[in-house]
Amino acid sequence: MVIFNMASTKFASFLAVISFIQILSSVSSLTMDQIIQNAANSSAQFEFMDEANGVVQVELDMKFTLDQWRDLIKLNKTSGNSRVKRKAVRNARLRWTSKAIPYEIAPNTFSTRERQQIQNAIDDWEMYTCITFRASSTGNRVRFQDGGGCSSFVGMLGRGSQAITLARGCRQKGTIIHEIGHAVGFHHEQTRPDRDRFVRILRENIPPNVFFNFQKYSTAVIDDFGVPYDFSSIMHYGSTAFTVNGRRTIETLDQQFQDRIGNRRGHSFRDIKLANKMYSCSESCTGITDASCPSNREGFVGKDCKCWCRGTGNSPVQHCDGGGIGNGDGGDGGDGGSVTQAPVTGTCVNMNANCVAWADRGECQRNPGYMTVYCQKACNVCDKVATCDDMNTNCNYWQGRGYCTDMFVNYMRENCAQSCGYCRSDQSGYNGQPSLHLGTSFFTFVTSGLAVLVSFRH
Ligand SMILES: [Zn+2]
Repeated sequence: MVIFNMASTKFASFLAVISFIQILSSVSSLTMDQIIQNAANSSAQFEFMDEANGVVQVELDMKFTLDQWRDLIKLNKTSGNSRVKRKAVRNARLRWTSKAIPYEIAPNTFSTRERQQIQNAIDDWEMYTCITFRASSTGNRVRFQDGGGCSSFVGMLGRGSQAITLARGCRQKGTIIHEIGHAVGFHHEQTRPDRDRFVRILRENIPPNVFFNFQKYSTAVIDDFGVPYDFSSIMHYGSTAFTVNGRRTIETLDQQFQDRIGNRRGHSFRDIKLANKMYSCSESCTGITDASCPSNREGFVGKDCKCWCRGTGNSPVQHCDGGGIGNGDGGDGGDGGSVTQAPVTGTCVNMNANCVAWADRGECQRNPGYMTVYCQKACNVCDKVATCDDMNTNCNYWQGRGYCTDMFVNYMRENCAQSCGYCRSDQSGYNGQPSLHLGTSFFTFVTSGLAVLVSFRH
């Protein structure tokens, strides 16, 4: 009896250890976009427009004011070379006017451990770049606070406090580095003007009503400062971002980089180089320029007026002559953490762990744009035949405000097809794009992006 008890206790501990390892491995395999998506408290976190606050949110975690968004869309139609535009670019990019970013941390919000994670993220930004952070409760500043999800405005807003929201699931160093990256002025790597030379966006696995999140920006909006595309960037989403079926949505053209995208750990070498260029970190250095550094190793002049090159081991950067920068524990930017979870291939599934809880709170009706696409099972819409419909309860109102054209056209085309009058008898929307899909199983896509309706009904 005693032996049995001991054995069963041991077995129970063994099971506990195994399940703990499983939890650890599933957490450690998450990509940046999965972390952000899982951390949302409500599907409303993924809504495109928060008109009450004058805010547009795209790509899960990037916020813009309506004015910024209007400028950005206007700019995006241009290529970035004319003189007229250059001024607009400067306005639109909204970098911090000095290299010091004032910040505050909302009181009574974060645990000691979480505050330490924020501090660690700040420490890495300060170690690898000339950007510094100083505590301040006045003027233009970022404010780390709780929120429905994880998000940041892009660049400096210039209207006092701007939030970096960190829901519980986003309070690790790497994710905070990513959100600070937006505040510094970084966009997502996979939306760079040259992304199509490095990755393929697999439209067939992305619901059309969220495809606007893969909008590519022109060189007028995104300046890469001559830093090449970076699969290891902390700003690059992972292989299955916005997938509706568990299959890949971002495929690297060179297969060997597939598992590298989605980095959730810390700055990559090129992230560091980009920030140094963007904030002119070596502008006061004399007698040395980037041309003095080994070009075959992408060397550049760092804030200490020495040449910086790609690091080895856990350090993303080191002096080109071999010396370390800072304490070198900034995290391995080169490892994206591959996605190990099995692909979900069914057509009637919940794509977010919170689907059932959200459905219970009535979010299927309140936020159909997200819920009826990613929580089909919880919302009980699996058997619905695709029709041309509105995906947002505000569509009619927005149509009245003129949003079907102008700066919201990409979003409205796929989310407010009925109100905007894009419905066609052949179910193909405006510009040949498919309109609405309750259950993507009803559609197959050809590579041109045109939709062919396939009915499974007899
Ligand atoms: Zn982001």
